[in-house]
Amino acid sequence: MRLLMLAPPGGGKGTQGTRFAEATGVAHLSSGELLRAEIGKDTPTGRAVAGYLARGDLVPDDLLFGLVTRAAVTAASNTGGFILDGFPRTLPQARRAHEIGLELDLLLDAVIHLTAPEPVLVRRLLDRARVHGRADDTPEVIRHRLQVFAEQTEPLADYYRNRGILLTVNADQSPDEVSAAITARLAERGFLSTSIRQEE
Ligand code: AMP
Repeated sequence: MRLLMLAPPGGGKGTQGTRFAEATGVAHLSSGELLRAEIGKDTPTGRAVAGYLARGDLVPDDLLFGLVTRAAVTAASNTGGFILDGFPRTLPQARRAHEIGLELDLLLDAVIHLTAPEPVLVRRLLDRARVHGRADDTPEVIRHRLQVFAEQTEPLADYYRNRGILLTVNADQSPDEVSAAITARLAERGFLSTSIRQEE
């Protein structure tokens, strides 16, 4: 199965993507994690992208596509699919990813669109900052990342709705409730194996 988690910062795409990957065995691919790993290893790509992440700005596509495409191809061949988290994040990225997906026979099966009111997102991000201390979870950068999401990423919901693969889930619930809602929406579309459906 090939899924995209489409959610604002704090929407739970990392949590739900990880859980779902564990439940299905397909790889969880977070573009933010891939970029943070490059920064951690101090590679040329890491050095080139560090400033963008620190400010909460989107990284230029040419620094990102090779990294994500390689990871997606490896994941698909090793685990039979992937759960993309944080990529694509703009309409141009979505269109280019669609072309690559067509070429490599790796098109998305479904897009899980997680929604929650902004005050809930801000509270979760500030809580995460206290627990994990992620560098881009400061109040100012959080505000900027939410604005970037609203302007550049939210339009992807219409793009995937028009493709008939958007599944919207209310993320303002407990993680267990959100996981159950995702499972139910995918099962309705006939995507899940019997083993996962039995866990509900
Ligand atoms: P995330 O872990 O998904 O919150 O992403 C953290 C940061 O990584 C973002 O604020 C961006 O700076 C960068 N990033 C992650 N995914 C993308 C993407 N698809 N396009 C551009 N920048 C990205």
